[in-house]
Amino acid sequence: MGKIETNLSAAEVGHHIGGAIRSGMSGRHGDVYNPATGALARTVALADESEVDAAVQAAKAAFPAWADTPPIRRARVIFKFLELMNQHKAALAAAITAEHGKVFTDAEGEVSRAIDVVEFACGIPQLLKGDYTDQVSTGIDNWTMRQPLGVVAGITPFNFPCMVPAWMFPVAIACGNSFILKPSPTDPSPSLMIADLWQQAGLPDGVFNVVQGDKVAVDALLAHPDVRAVSFVGSTPIANYIYETGARHGKRVQALGGAKNHMIVMPDADIDQAVDALIGSAYGSAGERCMAISVAVLVGDAADKIMPKLVERTRTLKIKNGMELDAEMGPIVTSAALARITGYIEDGVKAGAKLLVDGRGHKVAGHEHGFWLGGTLFDDVTPDMRIYREEIFGPVLCCVRVPDFAAAVDLVNRHEFGNGVSCFTRDGNVAREFARRIEVGMVGVNVPIPVPMAWHGFGGWKRSLFGDMHAYGEEGVRFYTKQKSVMQRWPESIGKGAEFVMPTAK
Ligand code: NAD
Repeated sequence: MGKIETNLSAAEVGHHIGGAIRSGMSGRHGDVYNPATGALARTVALADESEVDAAVQAAKAAFPAWADTPPIRRARVIFKFLELMNQHKAALAAAITAEHGKVFTDAEGEVSRAIDVVEFACGIPQLLKGDYTDQVSTGIDNWTMRQPLGVVAGITPFNFPCMVPAWMFPVAIACGNSFILKPSPTDPSPSLMIADLWQQAGLPDGVFNVVQGDKVAVDALLAHPDVRAVSFVGSTPIANYIYETGARHGKRVQALGGAKNHMIVMPDADIDQAVDALIGSAYGSAGERCMAISVAVLVGDAADKIMPKLVERTRTLKIKNGMELDAEMGPIVTSAALARITGYIEDGVKAGAKLLVDGRGHKVAGHEHGFWLGGTLFDDVTPDMRIYREEIFGPVLCCVRVPDFAAAVDLVNRHEFGNGVSCFTRDGNVAREFARRIEVGMVGVNVPIPVPMAWHGFGGWKRSLFGDMHAYGEEGVRFYTKQKSVMQRWPESIGKGAEFVMPTAK
């Protein structure tokens, strides 16, 4: 099969502040690896407080003019950006694969889902229309409008270096805010490519900025008085921290956290479809997706029907460098993540789960130093085991056997996470009951990864989301704007004399 070339040439991934690329000045750098080869590819600057402040000042300076730009003209810039994203889709996908490891076609899918949100943001004139009541009282009209917040920040995880930032910035910028992206230092290059495309699209300098960094940069953003709102996506402990710290500093915060997504397979499900769904959603992107299925809940005799097929398909996954176009699964993102996931597999074995396929020690010829792990399958997992309770975030599928549908729903509802869930069945009533009773934010019926489309909004329940608003969609527009209510009358209609009672309609 063919290979895709990347053009990531810079030795250091710097910041993009006020329209210019800036090298790191803090003296601190992180290492960026190619996970397929294990080779150190480049370094990334890690911002200090003064670099974060420079980004905030650039964003603050750009805000008034951008906020005053009519939404239709903001939309025209976004349309141009959309065109450029489409033109550069392959290059963006190749950069993602080179630093994250996911297979190229999956990376292309990620860019497509990012583009969906950009398309949604092009409709901003319609989305910002307020409401209006004529004659709320004699001679008085009342209307509401939504105005941008100012400087807003997005802090994003390694696993979707293009799509997750794009859950935030197209909507924030369309609403008239200026935006600072703090991407994951693990795979930072796509962020600078995006900044470059914004510039080519004609976005005024300072409206979109990138500061690379780690906890130091995040804390500086959280404490900065001129940052009005923070959107975060990442693991639950950090999401919790961001929510509490941001709120303490008076900011609006939405913080999306980790997951443990279950897929219920009912005995009447089409077993081949369920196997396809489990294999793709458990092992796609090496399980490093917040919507990956990591628990199969096998109801009644579904377990015995499905298990031999799952074992066979897990053993024969095509695991190779994601740049090879027939790869089904690439490497794990870092050696530290590989060690963490391997630790979970050891823990599962010790706890008594049945290890049917062991991915440890997987080798890929010609890539001896890459961060490889094969697909791993456990049966007879029970709810008390760590491999069931905690997010592993790797290609490890845990199968739990339950007697009936009620036990399956109860199991899912007792888990601390509530991001995504799916049920495979041919029974309409089961499907309906499932969608109504399940305590999870994003639900699939015969759909394994029910990631909502750009105009619906993304968000989990329980400890998978801290805050009130989902990402993107109309909730995104609400998050990035504040509502103002205006009540107006004109001198001709003003009555005589001061009024000391609460105004009521007259
Ligand atoms: P992470 O929490 O380690 O990092 C996320 C961001 O927080 C990064 O930008 C990182 O630099 C920063 N960060 C890390 N440690 C920090 C600290 N101590 N203080 C302040 N900032 C810190 O997450 P990750 O490993 O990059 O991504 C994987 C996680 O993200 C998984 O838990 C996954 O479920 C979750 N995720 C959730 C969603 C969702 O929509 N709910 C989507 C994608 C990923």
